[in-house]
Amino acid sequence: MSRFPQSTVLGYPRIGPRRELKRALESYWDGGSTREELDRVGAELRAATWRRLGELGLEGLPSNTFSLYDQVLDTAVLLGAVPERYRGAADPYFAMARGTDGLAPLRMTKWFDTNYHYIVPEIGPGTVFKLDAAKPLAELREARALGFETRPVVVGPVTFLLLSADPGAALDRLDDVLACYEELLGVLAAEGVAWVQLDEPALVQDRTPGELAAVRAAYDRLGAVAARPGLFVSSSFGPLGEALPVLAATPVEAIGVDLVRGGLDGLDALAGKTVVAGVVSGRDVWRTSPERAAHALRAVARHAAQVVVGTSCSLLHVPYDLEAETGLDPALRARLAFAEQKVAEVVALARGGFDGPAPAVRPAPGREPVAAGERSPYPVRAAAQAAHLGLPTLPITTIGSFPQTGELRAARAALTAGTLPEAEYERRVEAEIERVIRLQERLGLDVLVHGEPERNDMVQYFAEHLDGFAVTANGWVQSYGSRCTRPPILHGDVSRPGPITVRWARHAQSLTDKPVKGMLTGPVTIVAWSFVRDDLPLRDVVFQVAAAVREEVRDLEAAGVSIIQVDEPALRELLPLRQAARAGYLEWAVSAYRRATSGVADRTQIHTHLCYSDADQILDAIDGLDADVTTIESARSGARILDAINTVNTVNTVNTVNTVNTVNTVNTADTADTADTVGAFGRGLGPGVYDIHSPRVPSAGEVEALLRRTLAALPADRVWVNPDCGLKTRTYEQVEAALSNVAEATGKLRAELASLTSGRPS
Ligand code: GLN
Ligand code: ZN
Repeated sequence: MSRFPQSTVLGYPRIGPRRELKRALESYWDGGSTREELDRVGAELRAATWRRLGELGLEGLPSNTFSLYDQVLDTAVLLGAVPERYRGAADPYFAMARGTDGLAPLRMTKWFDTNYHYIVPEIGPGTVFKLDAAKPLAELREARALGFETRPVVVGPVTFLLLSADPGAALDRLDDVLACYEELLGVLAAEGVAWVQLDEPALVQDRTPGELAAVRAAYDRLGAVAARPGLFVSSSFGPLGEALPVLAATPVEAIGVDLVRGGLDGLDALAGKTVVAGVVSGRDVWRTSPERAAHALRAVARHAAQVVVGTSCSLLHVPYDLEAETGLDPALRARLAFAEQKVAEVVALARGGFDGPAPAVRPAPGREPVAAGERSPYPVRAAAQAAHLGLPTLPITTIGSFPQTGELRAARAALTAGTLPEAEYERRVEAEIERVIRLQERLGLDVLVHGEPERNDMVQYFAEHLDGFAVTANGWVQSYGSRCTRPPILHGDVSRPGPITVRWARHAQSLTDKPVKGMLTGPVTIVAWSFVRDDLPLRDVVFQVAAAVREEVRDLEAAGVSIIQVDEPALRELLPLRQAARAGYLEWAVSAYRRATSGVADRTQIHTHLCYSDADQILDAIDGLDADVTTIESARSGARILDAINTVNTVNTVNTVNTVNTVNTVNTADTADTADTVGAFGRGLGPGVYDIHSPRVPSAGEVEALLRRTLAALPADRVWVNPDCGLKTRTYEQVEAALSNVAEATGKLRAELASLTSGRPS
């Protein structure tokens, strides 16, 4: 086995320093360029990355970390696990990622506790695995042609199966999947590859004895392949815990450990192994403390046969280059490192010297969270809101944003560049608000939104208007596919210098008699989607933000806004990966949310919005937010949220659901009374009626079917009708078509409900 290079990174950003891949993808999807043109941009980006990593002095260069959409999807393709229904599509890869006119895409969900989303593989008893190593081989050869020897990176077999839609059923297929990995190892060995990296971040989560046995079996078997590259199994996002001795007992030669999040316990199990010591964080933008890194490296060296300096995870989660940021305060800048700077840190540490200054760690006393704050009991609030708002049954609303047009983005860029006067920019935003209000009135929606035209991003916008944050000019990070965000940098104490959204909300409300929802981002989400100072407990930072949001909520109410939505789509994302830490997190996260939203009168209706498919994991916490109305992603994940809510509710009620999809099962007011007395989600709930991630327009029939499912699970007077998420990535054409189908389906069900109710003896 050849020696592992002394320095490496687990992966690198791939969207391009100027989001070149985003533009190339979108042009290809729009039919503006060919597949060859797209592939050429990909090749240029890969070449630039290898060259840059080489120039920086990195020894162990990865390959196959590039992706046109997602590395989990790439792994599914590598293993031939393309569900049958996509095989006939013009481009099966993008059909799985984004859907087609006739085909919904595969589900998408967050990658561990990051804001990166992967495509969820569908693996079942019928999946036929067949190795297709074209992509890793092509990248390997491409790098060679440029003079670089690389280490192919592939998602490992255990993580791949555990991340699929039905992990239990998937893990039953381990043997078949391993046959593909064995074959892959043979192919790579024949190609002369020295090392392969198999990413197994799923091993840092709680794993059952059966799953640990699968880890052992998998790596014993791959280790036994006669002609193969060295096996480097990497982990990320936390300590390996009980999986560490299991993995160490297998023949894998190299193991990667996250020493930023993980402690230094149990490292003795690594005796005799090459250890890729993740001492440089791939998750934050702070410079590495040389003392801390050196301490960890020394601890590893006491046990390991070889210590390699590496990152804690792929650098995918940080922007490319701090050099591209010229507008940052120099004092802040001195504390920062982006991907390039982190590579330089890895190289410097590996060369045995580290001359960067230690990051300024300001000792700050841990603050006790303030009292969460309580509202009146829900029935009291609900009565006050019903009287005040006078909404119809099945009120239709949207999640907040409407399409962000090119004109608006151009106007904002011109404003930033100083070529568009502020007054003119504001006039254009107001005109867009008017357009959105008129459209919603025309479509017959009940609770309107202003459309968020003034916002570049739901977190960045607030960061720009709060003290304690800095925003970057080019600090893009991939969120999913071509979608990127520029996470703000939360570096100091947070406070609100003045009202942020009030003027737009007031303007929108002045245009219509229908209620317009005020739209805010919640404290957990603002923190989750920022790079956060690490010198204060996360909890204390979130409570600082909650105090600022609370002020904004109260100002909106004072301005006459009677419905205020505070989005927390990232609530689950910060959920600790290990069970033991979850209850503590949820307790403070929920109380921060209540702190932010409890300062209003009973008649003011608080909405929250969440969007991820596995909300069922934290149903109690979502319920604990105590929002009057919760809108939540559902359509894309096959309405699983309803099953979860059903399971909870049917334990205590007679409200059983055995006749889904027939007209007569639509619940009427008397079942609502029953549900009133029981726990979970005894408040308003809007499970999304269509997936907004895809350009596909849902038919009225499709929406109707989903609504019927909701109505079978919940009393009609609690049901809201809304899309899965905000509409900013769609076009007006798509939005108008989709929402008019939503209104049509809702109208039909309202009429049915009305006739059911009127047909009953009172
Ligand atoms: N209000 C936001 C929007 O509509 C919510 C986005 C989100 O949940 N990610 O864009
Ligand atoms: Zn959402």
